[in-house]
Amino acid sequence: MTQSIVITAEHASNAVPKSLPSELRARFAESGAVKALASHRGFDAGSLELARALARRFDAPLVAATCTRLVVDLNRSLHHRALFSSFMDGLDAPAREAIVDAHWRPHRERVERELTEALEQRRPVLHVAVHSFTPELDGDVRTMDVALLYDPQRPLEKALADRWLGAFATRRPDLVLARNRPYRGTADGLTTHLRGVWGPDAYIGIEVEINQRHVVSGRGGWQRLVADVVETLAEAEGRRDVRRH
Ligand SMILES: [Zn+2]
Repeated sequence: MTQSIVITAEHASNAVPKSLPSELRARFAESGAVKALASHRGFDAGSLELARALARRFDAPLVAATCTRLVVDLNRSLHHRALFSSFMDGLDAPAREAIVDAHWRPHRERVERELTEALEQRRPVLHVAVHSFTPELDGDVRTMDVALLYDPQRPLEKALADRWLGAFATRRPDLVLARNRPYRGTADGLTTHLRGVWGPDAYIGIEVEINQRHVVSGRGGWQRLVADVVETLAEAEGRRDVRRH
């Protein structure tokens, strides 16, 4: 079951790019924006760390965002109304296009390039997109600790999710695991777009979603969870003994 792996993190950064026009940068200096940048609205806490750990373990390329989703959301399609946050309100079409060209396209294109290269070596390719979610959103309390998002209609995705969650349940019976929650794997997003580029026998797209309460729970618990995610994927991939370190 060993296949090439590509790791991405669309919400890895809460940075406001220096290349942004100064009047837009100024919007992020106001206290409400500073607060939003530091919160789940600005980025997925812990996702960069987990994505790096996965990339290291599997010797896989990592494509991680370097720009906050409050500027442009790399996990939204160009037509999606949440592509730009309210902090970008009032921008004209050329200004929006400039931001898309500077940040959105380079990420999307690099992911597609890495997947294309991996597919030239071996099929299928496994794309793991790393995310984290806030424990409570608009009064909705999310009790799950770790979730995998995928397309249940794609047999290879479902099979990998079964193996991965199975390994997870054995290793961490104390955690609540979930499928396609708090979001559906087929909702608008990068993996959904890529399923339109490659068929089910070539592309396996899985989003891993971690409850952010683990990220802030103290270093020991978070480090353990990172190791759990990495090693249960290794088990699901049949790479348990192929430790590199
Ligand atoms: Zn995310």
